[in-house]
Amino acid sequence: MFSGIVQGVGFRPFIYRQAIQNKLGGFVRNRPDGVLVEVEGATWDIDSFLSGVRRDLPPLADITNISALDIETTHDKVFRIIPSDARGDGDVHIAPDVAVCADCLKEFFNPLDRRYQYPFINCTNCGPRLTIIKSIPYDRINTSMSCFPLCPQCQSEYENPVDRRFHAEPNACPVCGPRIQILDQEGNPVDTTDPIAAAVNKLKDGKVLAIKGLGGFHLCVDAANNEAVERLRSRKFREEKPLAIMISNLETVKLIGQLNSEEEKLLTSLQRPIVLIKKKITNIISRQVAPGVPHFGVMLPYTPLHYLLLENNFAVLVMTSANQIDEPICISNREAVTRLKGIADYFLVHNRNILVRCDDSIVMVAGGKQQILRRSRGFVPRPIALAESFPAVLALGPQLKATQCILKDNFAFLSPHIGDLETPQARDFFSESITLMKKITESDPAVIACDAHPAYYSTQVAEALAPVKVIRVQHHHAHIVSCMAENRISGEVIGLAMDGTGYGLDGNAWGGEFLVANETGFRRLGHLKYFVLPGGQKAIQEPWRIAASLLKSAYGNAWPEIAARLDIIPSGFDSKLLDKIIENKINSPLTSGLGRLFDGVAAIMGLRRKVSFEGQAAMELEGCINETSGTTFPFEIKRDAEGCFILDMSGAIRSIVDEILKGTSKNEISISFHMTVARSFAAMAKEISAINGIKRVALSGGCFQNRILLENSVAELENAGFTVYCHKHVPANDGGIALGQAVIAGSIMKGS
Ligand SMILES: [Zn+2]
Ligand SMILES: [Zn+2]
Ligand SMILES: [Zn+2]
Repeated sequence: MFSGIVQGVGFRPFIYRQAIQNKLGGFVRNRPDGVLVEVEGATWDIDSFLSGVRRDLPPLADITNISALDIETTHDKVFRIIPSDARGDGDVHIAPDVAVCADCLKEFFNPLDRRYQYPFINCTNCGPRLTIIKSIPYDRINTSMSCFPLCPQCQSEYENPVDRRFHAEPNACPVCGPRIQILDQEGNPVDTTDPIAAAVNKLKDGKVLAIKGLGGFHLCVDAANNEAVERLRSRKFREEKPLAIMISNLETVKLIGQLNSEEEKLLTSLQRPIVLIKKKITNIISRQVAPGVPHFGVMLPYTPLHYLLLENNFAVLVMTSANQIDEPICISNREAVTRLKGIADYFLVHNRNILVRCDDSIVMVAGGKQQILRRSRGFVPRPIALAESFPAVLALGPQLKATQCILKDNFAFLSPHIGDLETPQARDFFSESITLMKKITESDPAVIACDAHPAYYSTQVAEALAPVKVIRVQHHHAHIVSCMAENRISGEVIGLAMDGTGYGLDGNAWGGEFLVANETGFRRLGHLKYFVLPGGQKAIQEPWRIAASLLKSAYGNAWPEIAARLDIIPSGFDSKLLDKIIENKINSPLTSGLGRLFDGVAAIMGLRRKVSFEGQAAMELEGCINETSGTTFPFEIKRDAEGCFILDMSGAIRSIVDEILKGTSKNEISISFHMTVARSFAAMAKEISAINGIKRVALSGGCFQNRILLENSVAELENAGFTVYCHKHVPANDGGIALGQAVIAGSIMKGS
C-alpha cells in the first residue's frame, strides 16, 4: 500500500509500466487510504520493481509511506489496473496545481497536434488539481470538469493505461473541454472569433484586463506601458506596493534582474512561484512596477493561456492578484465582473470553474537557500512532514497574512494564503477555507488553536466553535515553534522572534523577542527595549512618529532640536504636542517590535515619512544597500528588575544621526545598521546561552524576510558557535503562525 500524493498524478499507469517491465503479475487499485498494489513474481524482480518505483516517481507524486505484506501466490501472470474501491480511511493527499509540462507544451505549439494552442491542455503530470476539487476522492466527477463529458478521443486516452493522460481528471480538448471568452466591463461577451488576439490588442492599447488563471483572477497590463501601469495603480488604490510581473522567458528575466542559480531553479520549477530577484536598471518596463524597493517579484508563465498571451506579444506583463484592497482574490466570472467594477476594462474568462482560491506563491533566496514568503499555489495542499505524530488539531492562525493548519498524524496541512482578516469577503474566505481543509484532510479536529489576542477575528471564530477545546498561543511562541517544526527539531531553543507587532502577555506590543522556547511553553528572557508608538496604528502608517519617539529615547529633552535638523516632523505639526503624546503615552502603546525600529530608522534617514503598505520603509532601508559590509554602531545590553535582558539601541540611533549630519551615504549607514542589529542578536543569544547552555537558535518573524538581516544574523550567530535554524518551506512571517499554533496545541494535548 502506497500513501501520500499517489492519486491523480499518473501513479497507477506508472506502477503498471514498472510491473510490466519487471515481468510481474497482479494489480493496482485506488483506495481512499492510498494505492493498493499486489505483485507476484520472482523476488529479484519484485525488488527491482520497488527500487524503480522509488527512483522514477512521476513528477507530482510524493510517497509518504509504503506498507508491504507477503500474501499467498495465485499464479497471476497478467498485471491489471482495476477500478477504485471505497473501503478504508482517507489517507490520500491531494496534489497542488502545477505549471503546464514540457510534453504538453510541445503539443501546444505543434500546429499538427489536435490540442494546438488549446488553453486547457494538461496531462497527469501537469495542470490544475486542488483548485478544481469539489469533494474527495479526486475523480473527474468530483471536480469542476464534471460538466465536460469527454469526447471519444479524450475518453480513450483517459482509459489507456500507457497514455500520458490515463486518468488525467482535467483531460480536455477543443472538442469537449472548456473555452475562452472575452467580456466587456459590464460582463457582456465581446463579439470576436479570437478572444486571445482581442485580449492582446486591448493590452497593447493600454487597457486593464482581468484574466482568469488557475487559482483566481489576475489584473494584467503591459508592463512596458507606463500609463497603463499607473492606471492600474490608481484604480486599485495601490500607490506604491510592488506589482508582480510575468516574463516570457528566462533570457528576458536576466535583462531586468540579477539571477543566481537557485533563483533560476525556483523560477522554472513545477510550482512556478513569484521569485523576488534583485533589480537591474532597465528601461524594458515601467518604473512604476516596483518603485523604491530592491526587488522585482517575477514569475514565468505557468498556464497554457499565459504562453498564448506572452508568446511573440509581450516581454513582460504585470500580473497582480485581482482583488480590491484587503479582499481575497476573485475566482468566479460573475464575482470578477462585480468586484472588479471600475478596475478592469475587459475580462478574459473561461468556463472551467475555480473551486478553491489560491494566490500565487512568493519565494526568495537568502544565503543560497529558498525562503518561502507566501505559501499557496503550487505548494498547497502538499503537507509539511513533522518529526512525530500528533492528535488532530485545527489552528486558525493570526489576523494578518492568515493561513490555517490541520495536523493529522505526522503531517501538517497548511491552507492557501487567506490574507488579512479585515473585510467581510476575507472573513467568508476564512470560513470557506476551514471547510476545505477539513474536507481535504478528511478530519474534524476537536482541538482548535488560535492567537492569544482576544480581538483577532480568528480568535473569535475559535471561541465560537465551542464546545471544542480552544488553546490560545502567544504569537511569538508560535513563530518559533513553526520554525522548529519545519526543521523537525524539539526541545529547548533560543528563539529570536522578530516582527512588527504581536500581542504580548504584559499588554504591550511585542516584536523583538528573545525567548527560550519548546513545543509546549516559553520564557521571555530578553527583548528590544520598549519605545512608545505615538498614536498607535497611526505611527505604523507614518513612521516619522516612530522616528520622533526613538530620538526622544536617545536624546531625552534635546530631541526636538535633532528632529528639526533632520527635518523629520512634517510642517504644521508641533513637536511640543508630540512630546506630550510620547511622554504621557496618549493613545500610544509601548512596543518592542523590531519592524517598528526599522521603520523609525528609515524615517530618521529621511527615506520616507509615510508608508502606503506594511514594511515599505524597512524594504527601502534594505534597498539602499549595495555594499556587503560596514561598521558597527554601539548598542547596550542591560537587565531589568526581573533579570530580563534588554537590548538598547539608543547608541546606534545617536551614531546614525551623527553619520547623517556628517553626510555619510545612506548605503553605508543602512548596511552598518543591519550589521549592528545582526551583531546585537548574537550578543543577546550569548548572554542567554551563558545562563542555560542552549546552543541552538531558531529565527522567525517577518523581519527575517529582510535578506541582508537574515544573512548577517545567521553568520554572526554561527560565528558565535550557535546552530541556527531558519524557515524554508513555511513563511517566516505571519503566514507560518498557524503551523506553530497547531504543533504547540498538539504537543500540549499529547502531554495532558
Ligand atoms: Zn502535461
Ligand atoms: Zn476531447
Ligand atoms: Zn508575527
